Amino acid sequence: MMDTPLSIVSMIERAEKLFPKKEIISRTHSGIFEYTYKDMAERTRKLASVLKRLGVEKGDRVGTFAWNHHRHLEAYFAIPSIGAVLHTINIRLPGEHISYIVNHAEDKVLIIDIDLLPLIERVKDDLTTVKAFIVMADDTELPESTLEPLYSYEQLISEGDAEFQFSTNIDENDPAGMCYTSATTGLPKGVVYSHRGIVLHSMAAGLVDTLGISESDRILPVVPMFHANAWGLPFAATWFGSTQVFPGPQMTPQIIAELLEKYKVTITAGVPTVWLGLMQVLEKGSYNIDSIRAVVCGGSAAPKEMIRKFEVDYGIPFIHAYGMTETTPLATVARLKSYQQDLPEDERLELRAKQGIIVPGLNMKVVDDKGNEVPHDGKTMGELLLQGPWIADSYYKDDRSKNAFVDGWLKTGDVVTVDEEGFIKIVDRTSDLIKSGGEWISSVDLENGLMAHDDVIEAAVVAVPHEKWMERPVAFVVLKENAQTTKDDLLHFLEHQLKFARWWLPDEIYFIEEIPKTSVGKFLKRELREIAKEKIKQ
Ligand code: AMP
Repeated sequence: MMDTPLSIVSMIERAEKLFPKKEIISRTHSGIFEYTYKDMAERTRKLASVLKRLGVEKGDRVGTFAWNHHRHLEAYFAIPSIGAVLHTINIRLPGEHISYIVNHAEDKVLIIDIDLLPLIERVKDDLTTVKAFIVMADDTELPESTLEPLYSYEQLISEGDAEFQFSTNIDENDPAGMCYTSATTGLPKGVVYSHRGIVLHSMAAGLVDTLGISESDRILPVVPMFHANAWGLPFAATWFGSTQVFPGPQMTPQIIAELLEKYKVTITAGVPTVWLGLMQVLEKGSYNIDSIRAVVCGGSAAPKEMIRKFEVDYGIPFIHAYGMTETTPLATVARLKSYQQDLPEDERLELRAKQGIIVPGLNMKVVDDKGNEVPHDGKTMGELLLQGPWIADSYYKDDRSKNAFVDGWLKTGDVVTVDEEGFIKIVDRTSDLIKSGGEWISSVDLENGLMAHDDVIEAAVVAVPHEKWMERPVAFVVLKENAQTTKDDLLHFLEHQLKFARWWLPDEIYFIEEIPKTSVGKFLKRELREIAKEKIKQ
């Protein structure tokens, strides 16, 4: 077979040649912007030419600090198409983490959304490698800023070369992208994506048995473009010529509902908290979102009750998937096998709430403390290990690599069970499992149980130290407005309706207004553990 390199250049060139008329819709700071792949490709060539002019060379890192919109999409393709590395920076990180990762990645140029400039201005004195800043706004005017030199994105595009030729000197193993992922302790860790990894990942996302992304789809990624490449959707969608709808800055569940309806979106993707928010909007308003064929949910466990609500109450198909920044990210998808379709509704939901089976192209194994594979009985727990062409093989210039990448496998840090059908179920992060009297309690199971109660919006469960049992679970719960449910009601519900063992029940349930979240919308368990310890002392 021919040894043709897989490269992002061929993705954008395909869209340009085959889908010039297809649309991209983008919510920007000033309104809705619509254009076609033809225009998008032309602007991408222009951006690539000006980046070259600014001195960006093969292998250089270019950081983006931006929301989900068409300019970010142009950067997604322009940067790797000149052989440089697209470094998407999480806009919600604390300042010291932002400056750490920009310096650690040695970003040469930073491309920043206008409303996010103050966040970079605040850390500018700590940035040691950046030679130029580019501000993305809807016009060419340069805002007042302490960043220097500062260029206007639109001005640069207007000076760019529409005929610019993308690089032909790209090896498929060259780095194309980079994303830092937060660690439980310490500074964020950098993951590098190769051209080959991104292309193969996109191909996997197009398989009918995974997300089945196709030309006829209209895709709205709610998952940020600074988080694991918005789960690879902008790459796959461009390659396949799908219509893309970007939700832009400061989106809210209301804005998402409006965009889903107006642009007849067929696939949307995000973390469970996004869908919990959307569910509340759908309950209040009347939106017609019948066009949706898949709400893709990952990043944290999708509660079974949420899947049921979407599918049964709203008739919206739901796909639960699992992955990590380190896995580009798609690793498993919970799609029922043909012979599972006829199972009773509850059993089907039970399976769909699992994280699913490994996608074609990757290998997995689940091992105990000694590295032996655990039986696939749906009960025995072990750590999930992954291997494959879109799984990272190290952290970028980071000593922590040696603990996470062992003998050609990525140690995910996720504790799972595997059933006879190969469906994995995440029990917890290794660091979040609760060990009570020598036995494990899954915080994820308890959270899903609590969230199955009609009055509960969100629930998070953490371990607190205990003299006798070593650790015990306590829960934090956000109730619906005006709900009168008490701790005893919830404990009764868990024990008698959901049949949780008595010793699993949380010792305390604290009612709070909002669960603190990480920068990518997951429950911030570290902070909850601290709050719980304080509350117990009182
Ligand atoms: P990140 O790199 O920020 O995307 O985080 C990856 C981690 O999120 C994984 O290691 C899991 O712990 C968690 N995660 C991702 N998807 C799921 C899911 N569907 N269910 C439960 N946990 C998930």
